[in-house]
Formats: sequence, C-alpha cells, structure tokens
Amino acid sequence: MAIIAFVGLGTMGQPMAQVLRAAGHDVLGVDVSPQMRARFSGAVEPSAEAIAQAEIIVTMLPEGRHVTQVHTDIILKGAAAGALLIDCSTIDVDTARDLAAQAEAKGLVMLDAPVSGGPAGAETGSLSFMVGGSNEAFAKARPVLEAMGAKITHFGPAGSGQAAKACHNMICGITAMAVMEGFALADALELDLHKFYALCAGAAAQSWTLENRCPIPGVVPLAPSSNDFAPGFASALMAKDLRLAQAAASSTGQATPFGAEAARAFTEFAEADGGLDFSAIYKTLRALPDQRQD
Ligand code: NAD
Repeated sequence: MAIIAFVGLGTMGQPMAQVLRAAGHDVLGVDVSPQMRARFSGAVEPSAEAIAQAEIIVTMLPEGRHVTQVHTDIILKGAAAGALLIDCSTIDVDTARDLAAQAEAKGLVMLDAPVSGGPAGAETGSLSFMVGGSNEAFAKARPVLEAMGAKITHFGPAGSGQAAKACHNMICGITAMAVMEGFALADALELDLHKFYALCAGAAAQSWTLENRCPIPGVVPLAPSSNDFAPGFASALMAKDLRLAQAAASSTGQATPFGAEAARAFTEFAEADGGLDFSAIYKTLRALPDQRQD
C-alpha cells in the first residue's frame, strides 16, 4: 500500500491516522507539537524532507492559514512529483481552490475533503467526506477515504467539498438557533419541556439537532446538556464553520441573513464559552432580555 504522510495529529487527525494504520497503510505522522507526536509512534516534525517519500499526503489542520503555511513551506517544496494531496481540514472555498491550482502547477494532484462526524466518527472510521477535485484524483483517493469514512460524496471540482461543508454546517448552525430559541420560549411560557421535546421529535420540528442537542438537561440523556454541556462539537468550531459560510456568501454575493445572524451569535458566544458544546448557547438565549421598544 502507498506511503501516507499524515500532517496534523490533533483531535481528529490522531484517530484518522490510527484508523489508516489499522487498515494496513504505512503512515508517517507529522505534527508541530511534541505532545501530539508522542501519541503516534514514529511521528516527526514537519519538514520538506519528511514528506518526500509519501505518495499520499493528508492534512488535518485547524484553519486555512495553517494549511496554506504547510502547503507553501513543506508540501510544495518537498512532495514527490505526482503525489496526491488530500486536505481534510475545514477551510474557506477560495483558499481550497487556490491551493489546488498551486499544487497542479507543481505537478501534484489535490482534493479538498472536509469531514463531518467528529472525533467519534474519526475513531470508528465512519466519517462523512465531502470531496472536491478531479475524477482521477478522487479515484486514487477513494481507498484511503473509505478506510476513514462511511459516506464519501464527490461534489465536483476543487473547492466543492469545502462548499458543501460550508452550506451543510450553515444549515446546522441555523437549525441550532431555531431549536434553542424554541426551547427558550417554551420554557418562558412554562411548558413541560419533556412533553414539548416529545411533541417536536414526532412532528415537523424534528431534526438531528433536536434529537442530539436538546438543551434541557435530562431530556435526552446522551445530549451534552445532560453532561454540563461538555462537547460534542465545541461552539468555537461551530462559530468558525459559520464564518466560513459567510466568507462563501460574500464571495458569491448570495444573501444568507439567517446564516449571518447564526455566525454573529455563535462567534459572540464562543468568545465567552468557546470550549462548551454549541448547544450551550441555549443558556445565553434564555437569559436575553427582550429589548423591543413599545
Ligand atoms: P486540533 O487543533 O485538535 O488539531 C490540529 C493539529 O494540527 C494539532 O495537533 C496541531 O499541533 C497541528 N498543527 C498545527 N499547525 C501545524 C503545522 N504547521 N504543521 C503540522 N501540524 C500542525 O484540530 P481538530 O479538532 O483535529 O480539527 C482539525 C480540522 O478538522 C479543523 O479544520 C476542524 O474545523 C475540522 N473538524 C473538526 C471536528 C471536531 O469535532 N474536532 C469535526 C469536523 C471537522
């Protein structure tokens, strides 16, 4: 099997790289952090030399600026001709397109392949991948993506994986605001919130967010609200994804007023409580005073 360099051994990258190893791939872990390297045997510091032997280079880094830096300083300098780059980080569409064009100019092939599914999906190899790039690159990447994921969708040319991720997560963010606001009003109206949950779960208000992120402790035992709002999916990550959707909205000129409000609200909340699960925004919403003027 191909030699894979896996750059970024954090919350998501570490289990993804482990899953690839367990599937029999020869995986070289790469990370700037000595702590992260210590958790993956044989891992090395990032350098152009380190990745020169790899036929496939996977990146799983926090933000577009990290991916751009690794791409510019390491991958474009060190990658072997014809190497396949798979960026699984969540970054903005325009940067994904730029990086793919730069890679192509150097004789490399690149896919953007952001994921949904979180650390649990990474550990069990059941992530959903949203992929952008050429058909040839996708065909080559498929066995690697299949080792890490259960659902793999090729959307089209470079950037379209990030585009799908931005739109998907914007829907999740707006839905989260709707669910939290609905429960805040139901509580203010002194409804029985267990009965209200049961009503919504069996009616048109049903959603993944409702069933997995009900904000009332004890109503859904496995929801973060029943565990002091430990993530889950941290509100800082939700805020980041909603800002990426806003960047995509600006660059296309498409109005997304609900997405803009969700991005604003989650960014404000994340500045105060970024480590809590995103559903913890319920507590802030419930406490908001009504500021309408008569
Ligand atoms: P993380 O911060 O836990 O891990 C990032 C890793 O990259 C760290 O180990 C860090 O040391 C390393 N790193 C940073 N700069 C580097 C560099 N220049 N060279 C080499 N290594 C470097 O982040 P994460 O939670 O694993 O998320 C990674 C990406 O996946 C993000 O884009 C995130 O938005 C996305 N994502 C995260 C989740 C989630 O639930 N955590 C879910 C879906 C998608």
